[in-house]
Amino acid sequence: MTSQHLDLADLELGELEKALEALGIERFHARQLYRWIYRRGTVDFELMTDLSRTLRTRFREEFLVSTPRIVTDERSVDGTRKFVLELADRRRIESVFIPDTPSMTFCISTQVGCAMSCGFCLTGKMGLVRNLMAGEIAGQVRVLAAATGLLDLPFNIVLMGMGEPLHNYDNTMKALRILHSEHGLAVSPRRVTLSTVGIVPGLERLAHEPMMPNLAVSLHATTDEQRTALVPPNKKYPLADILDACRRFPLKKRSRITFEYVMLDGVNDTPDDARRLVRLLAGIKAKVNLIPLNPAPGIPYDRPSDARVDRFAQILADRHITVSVRKSRGQDIRAACGQLIVEGGPKKTAAQQMALLLR
Ligand code: SF4
Repeated sequence: MTSQHLDLADLELGELEKALEALGIERFHARQLYRWIYRRGTVDFELMTDLSRTLRTRFREEFLVSTPRIVTDERSVDGTRKFVLELADRRRIESVFIPDTPSMTFCISTQVGCAMSCGFCLTGKMGLVRNLMAGEIAGQVRVLAAATGLLDLPFNIVLMGMGEPLHNYDNTMKALRILHSEHGLAVSPRRVTLSTVGIVPGLERLAHEPMMPNLAVSLHATTDEQRTALVPPNKKYPLADILDACRRFPLKKRSRITFEYVMLDGVNDTPDDARRLVRLLAGIKAKVNLIPLNPAPGIPYDRPSDARVDRFAQILADRHITVSVRKSRGQDIRAACGQLIVEGGPKKTAAQQMALLLR
């Protein structure tokens, strides 16, 4: 393949139709291509048998569909599968399949690494290597759906893998439009949850998106001081601004914003924290997802006892806040939240290594 080839992975259906038209090819072939690529998981033009031989040859000579390559596929005892995927530039990312019944979920990445530096997250320790292209974000879903036999079945997507989706806004939203196409995987935005640390301008843009996913905000703390220590972007976008943006967020009927709260033993898990959290969420249609930390080497926090988690949850429930405690999935293969890091991937540049040391 050369740079002369047009990469179809990064094109929305309308863009593909225009690209074909510009080459003197009928637009309707775009729908056929989308069906092969997304519904059947085929990127080999020779196998696209409802296209004429002439077209197949021409497509092979002029197009490519870059597709993340599965490097490893580790299976947890609980059925969770963690995939390491390699991109065209040999960078590596991780995506996770969580087979909870009744719904199947893919947790996918939006960046290689992450710039947010959350104190309890291994991905944050990598720093940001680069943004993913829309085709690379949508490509993870294509690859995982094929690998798990779900190309024809409904599944959920959570944008909770490596990276901060609102820090790669345009590519993330374009990927969702690609996945939404009725000629492709037809993923409804209702089945997608975007998780963010609360990049306020991104939240405001998201509030005007025609195709709006469910929103999850990673709160993790109840004072600015504590939150800035755990989630450094809080310095720029403090709690009050994030929660104001959440109050203004146009929710659909019966939907709510999920607030994620990683529980760190003795740090943010006291009854006072729980009561402050109740006050912060006043006036927001909210539910809270408590995530007891998945401890990992290099992370300077511990997991609280079940009794501390239960007490915290009870205080929220007593104030009529819907609360759930997230079961940790795939811990034996490091597929749990905040544990995605590509070991043995491409070497960091000297500047990236320095940035890590200075952190
Ligand atoms: S928790 Fe999410 S936003 Fe924070 S560093 Fe990790 S990947 Fe980035």
